[in-house]
Amino acid sequence: MEITPTQLILRDACARANDYLHRIKSRPVVASVQAAQRLEELFHDLPNKGVHPLEILRQLDEIGSPATVATAGGRYFGLVIGGALPLTIGASWLATAWDQNACFRWTSPIAATLEDVSLQWLRKLLGLPAETAGAFVSGASMATFSALAAARHALLSRQGWNVEAQGLYGAPELRVVVSEEIHVTVLKALSLLGLGRERIIKVPTDSRGRLQVDLMPALDELTIVCIQAGNVNSGDFDPAAQVCRLAKAAGAWVHVDGAFGLWALVNPDLSALTEGFTDADSWATDGHKWLNVPYDNGIVLIREAAHLRAAMSMSASYLAEGMEGDREPSHYTPESSRRARGVEIWAALLHLGRDGVEKLVAQFCRQATLFAQGLSKHGYEILNEVVLNQVLVSFGSAQVTRAVIDAVQAEGVCWCGGTVWQGRTAMRISVANLATTEADVELSIQAIVRAAEKARSRGAS
Ligand SMILES: *Cc1c(COP(=O)(O)O)cnc(C)c1O
Repeated sequence: MEITPTQLILRDACARANDYLHRIKSRPVVASVQAAQRLEELFHDLPNKGVHPLEILRQLDEIGSPATVATAGGRYFGLVIGGALPLTIGASWLATAWDQNACFRWTSPIAATLEDVSLQWLRKLLGLPAETAGAFVSGASMATFSALAAARHALLSRQGWNVEAQGLYGAPELRVVVSEEIHVTVLKALSLLGLGRERIIKVPTDSRGRLQVDLMPALDELTIVCIQAGNVNSGDFDPAAQVCRLAKAAGAWVHVDGAFGLWALVNPDLSALTEGFTDADSWATDGHKWLNVPYDNGIVLIREAAHLRAAMSMSASYLAEGMEGDREPSHYTPESSRRARGVEIWAALLHLGRDGVEKLVAQFCRQATLFAQGLSKHGYEILNEVVLNQVLVSFGSAQVTRAVIDAVQAEGVCWCGGTVWQGRTAMRISVANLATTEADVELSIQAIVRAAEKARSRGAS
């Protein structure tokens, strides 16, 4: 049978992707200097005559692949970067070939249905209220933005104010209470929503980075409280049970930023951390971090669907409405045209099952503990209580710690970033990739110790 141009292109792309992933463990995590220099070749004039697809894929692979950061390989511990399960890459490819617009049910019945199924599974998996609704967005940032838009709607509509129609000018004033450890993306969402990233009340945190409930101001029916499941440095959880109890009594709204940590709700071993989080009003999480689906993939979940719908829905005569009672995806998202992100979430959940998600959480926690034990055995100080996947390490002075981080990054066996935790400069290790093996952790500990010993001997000489 003759091979068509489409087959030729997609097979070539597939072969190159396979090859990339096959070699990823044996290359340095960061792009080499030569690879970065070759990027210059891309800056030429747009040709008059278009280039053949196979030649473009060749360029993309030869110039592009070496200039990637090998985050997919399993020894990248910066930010909170999940990997991508091979299945979710495959599911994403198929969905890309479909090229569905997930805006409406009638533009893609399959995309809408896989969102329905995934939401149903997520509710049960995370133990959220049966009526919990949600939407699939680009990441936790947009999930938080969407949830806070719903919160803004809910609190103001109870005061008789239609914020979607009238805006915030002249509206009753909303108050936002967060902890000092609030994630920057929540501040960004507040600024986008006109709530102001500085017009907020910041509650002090304890030594583990948890909001101190006894220092929280009195709440009322015009207050939004943002708490976190998974501090981006320490991995710790705010005391949700107490916050939600106070908020419920006052008529306040509680939003949870659980970009990675929300998945801990699945693992009963972590119930001491996760207690009370299901009592919140809205939740933001990521698929592209702990669930290991490809970028970009975030999920907003909301106790009362009507608030998210009121904040997000739109209508026009040419946008035919779906069947009464069906969930129309675009009524719940800030975007209209949108890729079918639910496909990857559905595939990952079906592949892992409840057991697999529980084990994934346990694996990340165990590997973080291995890092902490390994590095403290060599005499380095762990600055946080390792309750989840995050490890903060000091190698002495700020200067020495920074030198160790630089050396580890330059060597390329693994990659760890830096942070400042409660005034101290630290190496920040974040475990989030199912491709990470215990051998990867061991290799990485050796690389870190090697860098630290070199920094120490240089300091001594
Ligand atoms: C990553 C992260 C976010 C932002 O998520 P995006 O997917 O990058 O939009 C928010 N909060 C926490 C705690 C995070 O770790």
